[in-house]
Amino acid sequence: MSTQTVKRVVIAGGGTAGWIAAAALSRHLGPLLDITLVESDEIGTVGVGESTIPTARTFHRLLGLDERGFMRAAKASFKLGVTFENWGGIGDRYIHSFGQVGHSTWMGGFQHLWMQAAAQGFGGDIGDYCFELQAIKQERFATSDKANINYAYHLDAGLYAGFLRAFSEAHGAKRVEGRIAEVRQNSETGYIESLLLSDGRVLEGDLFIDCTGFRGLLIEQTLKAGFEDWRHWLPTDSAIAAQTPSTKPASPYTLASAHEAGWQWRIPLQHRMGNGFVYCSEHMSDEEARARFLANLDGEPIAEPRLIRYRAGARNTVWEKNCIALGLASGFVEPLESTSIHLIMLGATHLVQNFPFNGMNPALVRRYNQQSRAELERVRDFVILHYHQTERDDSPFWNYCRTMDVPETLAERVALFREDGHLVQDADDLFRVDSWLQVMLGQRVRPKGHHQMGRLLPPEELREALTSLKGNIARAVANLPRHQDFLDQYCPAA
Ligand SMILES: Cc1cc2nc3c(=O)[nH]c(=O)nc-3n(C[C@H](O)[C@H](O)[C@H](O)COP(=O)(O)OP(=O)(O)OC[C@H]3O[C@@H](n4cnc5c(N)ncnc54)[C@H](O)[C@@H]3O)c2cc1C
Repeated sequence: MSTQTVKRVVIAGGGTAGWIAAAALSRHLGPLLDITLVESDEIGTVGVGESTIPTARTFHRLLGLDERGFMRAAKASFKLGVTFENWGGIGDRYIHSFGQVGHSTWMGGFQHLWMQAAAQGFGGDIGDYCFELQAIKQERFATSDKANINYAYHLDAGLYAGFLRAFSEAHGAKRVEGRIAEVRQNSETGYIESLLLSDGRVLEGDLFIDCTGFRGLLIEQTLKAGFEDWRHWLPTDSAIAAQTPSTKPASPYTLASAHEAGWQWRIPLQHRMGNGFVYCSEHMSDEEARARFLANLDGEPIAEPRLIRYRAGARNTVWEKNCIALGLASGFVEPLESTSIHLIMLGATHLVQNFPFNGMNPALVRRYNQQSRAELERVRDFVILHYHQTERDDSPFWNYCRTMDVPETLAERVALFREDGHLVQDADDLFRVDSWLQVMLGQRVRPKGHHQMGRLLPPEELREALTSLKGNIARAVANLPRHQDFLDQYCPAA
């Protein structure tokens, strides 16, 4: 019979990552653990991270959260995808929705049928075959137990952390306010034994979760896990963020508009708009970025705009000795597809599933590290796709992105699609073929050929099938309420 040797968990940092970890551990393993989270009011959090992807719903369901309660507390709105402007070329606009595109068969993806229809002169826009995409276009939304709509949330990061804090404390997690001044290690093993706070308090633990953000106080500054830099593939490194009052009904999508050295986001919440200007400091000065950003804002900022520096890349190992890094401490793929909160939730869920009750099993540590790295690399490839597959040649930034070498894994995917219209989805893939399809086409990747399965049907039958599918989607979307109206009745924020 094994006995439990790991019981005291200390979470360093109380941003989104820290409180997600606290919520998952306290809710699922609370009776078996002593959980303490330490955060510093003086240091604060990164203060961005307000757009999510649909996996957040699964995480919330596992926690047993009430959706309306969470949305009211975080002043959240619904998100059905991202609208991209000026990415494939200046003036382009496409949508990456969370929906399924058409109906695939065992023989091949829907895109082959659609391309056959296009070759025969009908078929229309690929987006006509996606419910969520059409709902974005018309800014409509509804959810119910019966409706099958794939959605995520836009949320206020500060309010969300506060909500998860209350949830975690109700499940037994303890919060300590203070600044970690020193990380104390065992002189023989190098394992972390305690955190010394600046006021002299000491927090001892068996397992430490590093959620201290980019500084990686435990995983990097103490345990020197190392960092693999991905700047050559994801060259943006700065963002200016500011909030403005809402001036119109909330849209159910994030807007990502490219500019000559990066892109700008708009995230509509119930009470305000989150805005950010992402850029590559090698190609645009901070002054110019700030001026451009302020000129593009829809309204006056509610607070002083904040400059955030970052570096895209991955911690070599996110689990080192008795420390696991989550959130920005573990690595960062820039925010274009809003994947960081998902990766935190996934990491926290894997931790619950693989909790090292009996000590640090090297095989478990290796597996956790491999899994985390694979997940991050797949997200990385998907994000690089947006930068690399472009015809923009209007600035040194886009010329660099368009001509850079990309990871082999991504180059293979693009080649499969470009030559034969094939899309692949591996077991670990976060983004499904539907996502790759929408973004590849949006980024102007035009397949030279496609599977001929569509020719097995008489043209009239193919036309009828596609017309009927399109019509069903259009009718269903027309029956949805406006997104803002649905928000107002479903979960109005106080
Ligand atoms: C520009 C930008 C836009 C983003 N947009 C999105 C998005 O739309 N969607 C998404 O999913 N993700 C996004 N992200 C990522 C997202 O913001 C983070 O994943 C998320 O906020 C988690 O951050 P964190 O908790 O790891 O770090 P932080 O928020 O930085 O929190 C660190 C915590 O550690 C504490 N701390 C640090 N040092 C000490 C110390 N010495 N003593 C005590 N406490 C300490 C701090 O007080 C704080 O509580 C974005 C990131 C950036 C940079």
